[in-house]
Amino acid sequence: MEDVIIIGAGPCGLSTAIELKKTGYNPLILEKGCIANSIYHFPLGMTFFSSPDKIEIGDVPFPTVHEKPTRQEGLTYYRRLSEHFQLRIHPYQPVDCIKVSPQHFEVWTTYRGKKQIFHSKNLVVSTGYYGKANLLNIPGEGLPHVNHYFREAHPYAGRNVVVIGGKNSAVDIALELSYVRAKVTMVYRKSTFQSSVKAWVKPLIESAIASGKVKMFWQTEVDEITEDEVLVHQQGEKFQIPAEFVFAMTGYRPDVTLLQRAGVQFHPQSTVPIFSESMETTVPNLYVAGVVICGDETSKVFIENGRLHGKKIAKAIKQREKIMD
Ligand code: NAP
Repeated sequence: MEDVIIIGAGPCGLSTAIELKKTGYNPLILEKGCIANSIYHFPLGMTFFSSPDKIEIGDVPFPTVHEKPTRQEGLTYYRRLSEHFQLRIHPYQPVDCIKVSPQHFEVWTTYRGKKQIFHSKNLVVSTGYYGKANLLNIPGEGLPHVNHYFREAHPYAGRNVVVIGGKNSAVDIALELSYVRAKVTMVYRKSTFQSSVKAWVKPLIESAIASGKVKMFWQTEVDEITEDEVLVHQQGEKFQIPAEFVFAMTGYRPDVTLLQRAGVQFHPQSTVPIFSESMETTVPNLYVAGVVICGDETSKVFIENGRLHGKKIAKAIKQREKIMD
């Protein structure tokens, strides 16, 4: 029987594990992919928006070459920290379901095709949000040239590429594509960029649009994607845009299926779990950490504030143990 199992080895799950270690526990972390799996799947050239001090965990400084850490530096930091604190991580072990009994949790997993069940007194769900893209739910979205994730621009040099959306991912990707001279068209449903687009990126995209390096269709919505076109409408007028590749950068949302099946209660009409000051859900001893707490409003929690959840959870688990003694 484990004292604590943490689901998810992202920065917030790792931070929770380190805080628990400092409190005397040795939690087991179950992770569906690799350590910092979401960061691993970020675009290769990604630089964090946060300065390193804002995303360091366990009170360990995060040294970086420039003002903001790169994806590569992030991976190295979180990997080295996991080694340094000797965290018990089982990667590539997705959790299929959580069963709640009066005394403990059963955590059902699959590892290399084999079912495995773990038992734990406490459970922390820190599964992030990057694994589940917001779908457009339009015909053609499932075609192989349509992506919700981006690696790097090189393969698209000189090709017709449509980028859907107008926030940070869409803007970053449109710019990267323009640097390799892809023929980039952005399709955005709003009439201007919103304030959440980072201040240092906005002039770059505005200049790329002004110079024609990126073609922009404002107030335009996508109806369908075919093998070689994106069918759109703009204020009642329908037309097609040639597209050999499509990046639908429509954001991501937490997958709360595990929490729902475990019987956690949610705020009405939402996927926001109800939780206490100590991050405990309505299922006793089941805690949440990181962006999984904010339902579809994913801009409210990120590494900067999600990394603080672990301290609260470690304190709550320790206090409850003292009361039970
Ligand atoms: P996002 O902020 O959720 O933006 C999604 C975009 O897709 C928005 O422009 C939205 O339109 C549009 N959209 C969503 N559903 C749509 C639909 N059904 N039809 C048409 N358009 C739709 O997602 P994101 O840009 O991927 O950013 C996700 C998070 O990652 C954010 O917190 C962001 O700041 C962060 N990020 C960080 C970095 C970095 O650290 N370097 C880089 C990129 C992103 P509306 O604007 O109308 O809502």
